[in-house]
Amino acid sequence: MQPFPIKAREALITQIMRPVRTGRIVHAMIFAGPAGTGRKTAAKYVAQTLCCDAKAGRPCGVCASCRRFRDSNAPELITLAPDPKEIKIEAVRALLEGISLRPEGKMKCVIIEEADRMNPSAQNALLKTLEEPPEYAVFFLITQHPSVLLPTIRSRCTLVRFAPLEDEEVEEILINHGVSEERAHSIAPMARGCAGKAIAISGDAEYPQKTETLLNAMKDLKTERDVASVGPAIAGMRDDEKLLSELLEECAQELMHEDVRTPLARTLQENGIDGAALMQAVIGFVRMRASNVSFQYAAEMLLYNMLKPV
Ligand SMILES: [Zn+2]
Repeated sequence: MQPFPIKAREALITQIMRPVRTGRIVHAMIFAGPAGTGRKTAAKYVAQTLCCDAKAGRPCGVCASCRRFRDSNAPELITLAPDPKEIKIEAVRALLEGISLRPEGKMKCVIIEEADRMNPSAQNALLKTLEEPPEYAVFFLITQHPSVLLPTIRSRCTLVRFAPLEDEEVEEILINHGVSEERAHSIAPMARGCAGKAIAISGDAEYPQKTETLLNAMKDLKTERDVASVGPAIAGMRDDEKLLSELLEECAQELMHEDVRTPLARTLQENGIDGAALMQAVIGFVRMRASNVSFQYAAEMLLYNMLKPV
């Protein structure tokens, strides 16, 4: 059997694989968690297992199907990702057409990356298939914000949460990516358990400066009157909106769990911003951007909404 490549996620994979190993097929799963916690790797691994030709010890890693997965050349696996910021109904329709014909192999698996970027009509198109999936089809919805998905979609899927990794685990992954031990040690805590983020930080020389920009802007956000002056400072993060929503979402988590650690979360707390309100504001922001609302407007609403009492 080919082992799962991320050691830190072995227990979770065992749990996900239990129904697969007993032959029960779960047709739709949401893998929710921060980027770089192994969600997509896990989806590919489950897909490979489902498609493997071996009788036992799946995924075997050597059969024709497993070799196609290894070479990223498996027609059994279709991946859909935002283009560039949104997943539109046309893309979902094309995808569904692709799985409407019975495959030559055993199964057909679909990975939808950043599934929360599907606009509502795209989600509704997918919903119809999730309600009555072909018996050979399995869907993996990868998302950082499962609550942005329509409740009707969520109710059709098994939700699996990918918790952040330990700092030591992130450090190890960074070192395996060629980052020096010393740098890996200093970057790991910044990534808050997300290997993907740690790798992004290690390759982004401007990361400290970007977080500093956000921190300085937020220091001045105390009442609704401040939105007009803070807005333009946030507008500078237009090219880093994912980072913006990630950093604020982390702060919301810290505030909600009363575990304030980062200077940004501390600043927001001092300014009286509530964790739940902040989380709602971030979800609203992501939703607006997925529906093509302008960055400037979405960012202003983000600021207004986080100031609202819950
Ligand atoms: Zn195989």
